[in-house]
Amino acid sequence: YWMRFADLRITDNRALSQASERARAIGVPLVALFVLSPQDYIAHDRSPRRIDFVLRNLATLQISFRELHIPFHIVTHSPRKTLPERVFQLLKEYECNHLFANIEYEVDELRRDIRVWKLGEKHGIQVNLFHNKNIIEPGVILTKQGKGYTVYSPYWRNWIDTLNSNLDEYIKEAPQPLPNSESIMQDKRFSVLFKAPALDSIAGFELNDTDAAKMEVSWPAGETAAKQILERFLNTRVRSSQLGAVNPLNPGAQNGEKHSRILKYKDTRDQMDKDSTSRLSVYLSSGVLSIRECIRQTMVLTGSKKVEGNPSSGVGRWIQELAWRDFYTGVLSHYPRVSMGRPYFEKYSEVVWEDHQVPQDSVAKHEGREDVDGEMCRRWKEGMTGVPIVDAAMRCLREMGWVHNRARMIAAMYLTKDLMIDWRVGERYFMQNLIDGDLASNNGGWQWCASTGVDPCPYFRIFNPHTQSLKADPTGDFIRHWVPELQKVRGPELHSPPASMADKLGYPREIIDHSQARDRALRRFKNPGEE
Ligand code: FAD
Repeated sequence: YWMRFADLRITDNRALSQASERARAIGVPLVALFVLSPQDYIAHDRSPRRIDFVLRNLATLQISFRELHIPFHIVTHSPRKTLPERVFQLLKEYECNHLFANIEYEVDELRRDIRVWKLGEKHGIQVNLFHNKNIIEPGVILTKQGKGYTVYSPYWRNWIDTLNSNLDEYIKEAPQPLPNSESIMQDKRFSVLFKAPALDSIAGFELNDTDAAKMEVSWPAGETAAKQILERFLNTRVRSSQLGAVNPLNPGAQNGEKHSRILKYKDTRDQMDKDSTSRLSVYLSSGVLSIRECIRQTMVLTGSKKVEGNPSSGVGRWIQELAWRDFYTGVLSHYPRVSMGRPYFEKYSEVVWEDHQVPQDSVAKHEGREDVDGEMCRRWKEGMTGVPIVDAAMRCLREMGWVHNRARMIAAMYLTKDLMIDWRVGERYFMQNLIDGDLASNNGGWQWCASTGVDPCPYFRIFNPHTQSLKADPTGDFIRHWVPELQKVRGPELHSPPASMADKLGYPREIIDHSQARDRALRRFKNPGEE
């Protein structure tokens, strides 16, 4: 079983489960493999926090596999081009005759798997690939013309009907892998794997001690932690204090407060000053938690035999968000050009952007040859735009590797419409910082905000960051926590401090006037190609 980058669990894992079943049927031991590929992480702008999270999860998996007497070989390989050959070399070494893995839908990974498939044919090794990332895999929900959906509402209606009409198939839990015979631990080829130490870091992706400790508290590794976080979101009986210290992401939430956030989700989900969303994206994007488990648990909560499809309830609204994840994976699979720096609507490739030199490629960036950011872009990245909600969002992202969905939207809309900076700059910066970075969802989110993607926000619906701020952070707790310069400010001025107040408090003045910026964006989107 070849465990992939976004596949980090043992429970409810289709490829692993099938591998175990087959191994048992033909009477051979099961071996698990993980290939760390730093060149891929550089090319795909993976953040050091994400890599740290992967390594922490691999350490917990080493323990779990050991308990099952399953050798778990973690290798680091480069160049990435020869990764399939390296895998087949290992398969040969271990005398494997079958290979099982879950599919990754990104273009590079699909190309890699085509090579894997061909090598399998050449070496007489049966390659078995499984869908495991989504509730309904790409290619199932299609328009009447047999194409991938590009509009969410009809996709959603089709999605919930398809799911409920074949529920058992879509949410069935994959059986746990069976243990190997204990004698394998004495086998010379494998015994060393059972004793292998956990890897702390990968060169170029190290975290300093403070950051590493913070990440461990905020995003504990392992399937048990992921299930606890799901439980906390769904269940009123679990108190936040059971999860340890108050998470700095929610300065407003009191320790010991009772939570049943899903029931209130419909009304509170856009509030970033509340503990309003599940924060499971970190676990879902790494595969530490099964998306099927999320659905099954909502059914336990509602006591229904159907998945809740009414978005006017908290549970139904949350299920709709899970479906967005499937939707964007589908978009990436059906229209892979969106992930290659191209807008879904080609006409918007002509839009004139400001202030940023063409970014260098990721490898150059990793080698220290930094992108040359213009002043405006630099201010956005550093959270120094003078718009408190944007700055709080960007500082939270930098500090925690995660930020609330509405904050992502406001910050992305501000970059692309107010500052008129190319969405690809923001997409990349988010990937380089997010602990939950997922190409499909990140690209979908960015192209939505930039109005260039499938089913986007229409270009003329430009967020006013100040009014957004009042709605999304009504108590002001979110801003006051992340922008300490404004800690003592109360009332509406917190959301748009006048210049004199900003000067006095050492906070930047607004770097751009929203209404002028809005006019510029409207002009440029209406007539792509014109200044
Ligand atoms: P909840 O509100 O509890 O939602 C539950 C789950 O549904 C999430 O964990 C996520 O898996 C899924 N989900 C929710 N909203 C979306 C959405 N809009 N698109 C796709 N899936 C969604 N999400 C990522 O997982 N990785 C990314 O790299 C990413 N980048 C984004 C960039 C931008 C500009 C925007 C606007 C959104 C991005 N999102 C991304 C989507 C969304 O912001 C996060 O999934 C969400 O904030 C995670 O918080 P949560 O787990 O508390 O979500």
